Amino acid sequence: MTARLDIGLVIDPGHGGRDSGACGHGLRECDINLAVAQHFADAVLPHVRYVLPTRTRDEDVTLAQRVNLANGHGPETRKLFVSVHCNATPVLSPWKGKARGSQAMYYRNDTEGAHLAGVLLDALRREVRVMPWGGSLPRQPGLFQRSDLYVLRRTNCAAALVEIGFIDHPADAAQMRDEAWQQAVGIALAKGVVRHCYAEGVRLAEVA
Ligand SMILES: [Zn+2]
Repeated sequence: MTARLDIGLVIDPGHGGRDSGACGHGLRECDINLAVAQHFADAVLPHVRYVLPTRTRDEDVTLAQRVNLANGHGPETRKLFVSVHCNATPVLSPWKGKARGSQAMYYRNDTEGAHLAGVLLDALRREVRVMPWGGSLPRQPGLFQRSDLYVLRRTNCAAALVEIGFIDHPADAAQMRDEAWQQAVGIALAKGVVRHCYAEGVRLAEVA
């Protein structure tokens, strides 16, 4: 018997299959998201009741399928949902190829999701020196409330979407290519989830 946080975690590697997500410097977002998400899952698994990935390989998974999987799993346990993405600046943006760093999104009225998103940003900054990009006071830098993101709007638990860097920025892309960095980011996200749970008073439970 070991004590774990009495919570489940849904990890959602964004995109996959025909949807590569953003691309830059020879990288596809769907691959980076999956690699980081797998390290994230490995690192957080010993601390929580379960980890449920929305995909484990390069495959098509619709947004509705991701949400249905999350909402249908473990209804008796408290849950968190974290979607992992890489950012890119729009083609016509003056910041094209210049923006770098992390961002995190939460849905309005989801106060626990807002806290989770903030803690994940903080973990990226502290653990792997990925600094937040954009946003303005009084909000935490890099933290955004978003009403248009399906996986945040439709999940029935606290949810955050984290952008681990800009795939179209040369320095961010160089890091993303590095498996040691992918693992470090996964570990940082795991630490963030654990910190969030302690701050939110999630109890420890004996798990067989
Ligand atoms: Zn994405």
